[in-house]
Amino acid sequence: MKIGSNVTGQMVTALKRLGFDRVFDTNTGADFTIMEEANEFIERFQNNDNLPMITSCSPGWVKFIEMNYPELLPHLSSCKSPHEMFGALLKSYYAKKEDIDPSKMYVVSVMPCIAKKFERQRQEMKNNGLYDVDNVITTRELARMIKQANIDFVELEDSKFDEPMGEATGGGAIFGTTGGVMEAALRTAQDTLTGESLEKIEFEAVRGGEGIKRATVNIAGKDIKVVAASGLANARTILEEIKQGKADYQFVEIMACPGGCVMGGGQPIKSSKIRSEIDVRKLRADSLYSIDEKSTIRKSHENPVLKKIYEEYLEKPGSYRAEKLLHTTYQERKKYNI
Ligand code: SF4
Repeated sequence: MKIGSNVTGQMVTALKRLGFDRVFDTNTGADFTIMEEANEFIERFQNNDNLPMITSCSPGWVKFIEMNYPELLPHLSSCKSPHEMFGALLKSYYAKKEDIDPSKMYVVSVMPCIAKKFERQRQEMKNNGLYDVDNVITTRELARMIKQANIDFVELEDSKFDEPMGEATGGGAIFGTTGGVMEAALRTAQDTLTGESLEKIEFEAVRGGEGIKRATVNIAGKDIKVVAASGLANARTILEEIKQGKADYQFVEIMACPGGCVMGGGQPIKSSKIRSEIDVRKLRADSLYSIDEKSTIRKSHENPVLKKIYEEYLEKPGSYRAEKLLHTTYQERKKYNI
């Protein structure tokens, strides 16, 4: 299949054939992360509290700052990453709704990321003594499992995600590429601050494959200085600027892998048969932007699934229950001491 092919529907079919009872969309979890993160950013921005706020959805990055720049930890958003938020909601909201004992659920996240295997074992990623997520397999491992099960992936028909947590927005889809988290959060922040559903959806300034993208965006009549960086060398550059007081950013997105999760350590490795001039990162990122463009709903806060779950269960972003289930804490870690 061509690099950047959208195989979401076939992946759902393959997971069902492998024996999973339910298959949900992690991008719904990304929409929750955006809701909580945009709300947290607005609060911090309005109170000039611990700015810049730095994103926290990349566990490779989170561990890097815990080990190397613990003095900057107050800048991290307290939001869990999308799959952790999702696991916490599956074992609370969904379990209650479906009358399932959460201790009998086994939640597996399929991720582009090896660092999420460590993240899911953090003691903070538990609720009522149960881990939010019980196991993480990478996309590369899933591909291997599909081959071992003799499933002819290319020939598979598409299936839909299970309800009620199977619907996501374009904002959730672009989470996987550098600048995507920032753009999705700005979409929600601008509508929240103005109280309107604005026509502006795309923030081109934070798109593209550069390792560091600095921009000033105007939302609700206010200039906000933002930067999106990917790759840990670039993360270090930004942290040094902040530490030395040389930067006045208000919102920072950092992803550990160069290019973001599309180039995550758990993704299929570029085969030697693929010509070197082919830009895998761009093809994969273009695929996510195309999913976003074709989505009928492109802003996380307009996702009907989220609206329902906030109404029925969480109340609102940043509520007591949302804080308990969807947010976390960080700690200084010694290097190589996991
Ligand atoms: S950028 Fe890399 S380390 Fe961070 S979440 Fe994505 S795949 Fe994982």
